[in-house]
Amino acid sequence: MSTESRLRIVWIYPDLLSTYGDRGNLLIIERRAALRGFAVECIEVRSDQSLPEHGDIYLLGGGEDGPQALAAQRLRADGGLHRAVVRGAVAFAVCAGYQLLGESFFAKGAQYPGLHLLDLKSDRGPSRAVGELAGEVNPALGLPPLTGFENHGGRTHLGPEAHPLAEITTGIGNNGTDEGAWRGRVLGTYLHGPALARNPALSDLLLLWATGVTPTPINDTWPERLRRERLAAVGFR
Ligand code: GLN
Repeated sequence: MSTESRLRIVWIYPDLLSTYGDRGNLLIIERRAALRGFAVECIEVRSDQSLPEHGDIYLLGGGEDGPQALAAQRLRADGGLHRAVVRGAVAFAVCAGYQLLGESFFAKGAQYPGLHLLDLKSDRGPSRAVGELAGEVNPALGLPPLTGFENHGGRTHLGPEAHPLAEITTGIGNNGTDEGAWRGRVLGTYLHGPALARNPALSDLLLLWATGVTPTPINDTWPERLRRERLAAVGFR
């Protein structure tokens, strides 16, 4: 975090990457940080603007193929996200945003280079993955089960330097077996919902990574009710 103790959350390209309520991830992390007493600054960066490099948490959402390809092209040309991550910033990316953090992805029948921030590649699957997505999180992260929904045509294959985020119990995720990936402080997922509204513990993990401070407990009665309902719908007890 910056020396002025202000948590800076950067919402990347809302004009290109913001499907299925992913903007809610910004609202959730802002709110949960404020409840822990952090002064928060939210910075929305459109695709014709350069990316600030002093952010603490960078958020990317999902997108259709065309906007996804354009976003990847602009982020590669800009270079700011890469420099921020190398400096130690947190990045959290959903679906199209997740795919473009890898080595390459497919959009509209063509292969595009990604940002090489996660060791993974995406191609196209035999069918579109649409519906509830749930799984047990990699024990190294110490999080409760993930819940959300997915809607993507791509499939993602992790290389040895990316850890799978979760083991699938419902849905397709990366490839029908695992879901999402992380390395260091960069974490990607296919979960919409928005992901951080349905998985507040994941939001708090990002907050811990960004601030170095374990978030204090807050009243999660309502998010817990939502989680219980959604997880019960896919067979969790
Ligand atoms: N365009 C990508 C795909 O279909 C990502 C879709 C999304 O972000 N929901 O795989």
